[in-house]
Amino acid sequence: MGRMLLHCCCGPCAMYPLDLLTSEGRDLDCFWYNPNIQPQFEFDRRHENLQKACDHYKIMLLSEGTECMQEYWLAKSYLDEYASRCEMCYDIRMEEVAKFCSENGYESFSTTLLVSPYQQHDKIAEISDKKAVKYGVKFDYIDFRPGFRQGQDMAREIGLYRQKYCGCIFSLEESKFRDKIYKSFEE
Ligand code: SF4
Repeated sequence: MGRMLLHCCCGPCAMYPLDLLTSEGRDLDCFWYNPNIQPQFEFDRRHENLQKACDHYKIMLLSEGTECMQEYWLAKSYLDEYASRCEMCYDIRMEEVAKFCSENGYESFSTTLLVSPYQQHDKIAEISDKKAVKYGVKFDYIDFRPGFRQGQDMAREIGLYRQKYCGCIFSLEESKFRDKIYKSFEE
């Protein structure tokens, strides 16, 4: 099997996939591209915690983009083009992942979004398959969901920050932990 680029949305979600893939001896690097993580404080916090997860497994983390795209999400102009904001969110990220995969000699890509029972697997797979064809690489669909709880426990064990909302500003506003989360930005 050739080299894989594993898109990682955050440290906790990366734990189980990294555990599984490294135990299988897969040749892989991790990749951060998540402008949907908002606001900037949270973007930086999740990026730093992903680095800790990668250090734990001694896997290289490559990163694209250092800023969140909160203004773009708030403008909602994407709704002219996409059926929903989550569809747009997957599309923007998998476009960058597949492009980077192709331009840097990887054979395939996958994503730690597939560990979460809260994400839309069918939509992620459909979009990723299209991007793979567009850039002449493979999308490796792996259902990591059976390891979701185990991954969260592993994240707790190594002291990773575990967020309480998906990522964008809308999901933050909808979170039942909204006030607590805003408070954590000030600490
Ligand atoms: S809820 Fe999650 S997947 Fe949907 S747009 Fe927000 S960050 Fe992206």
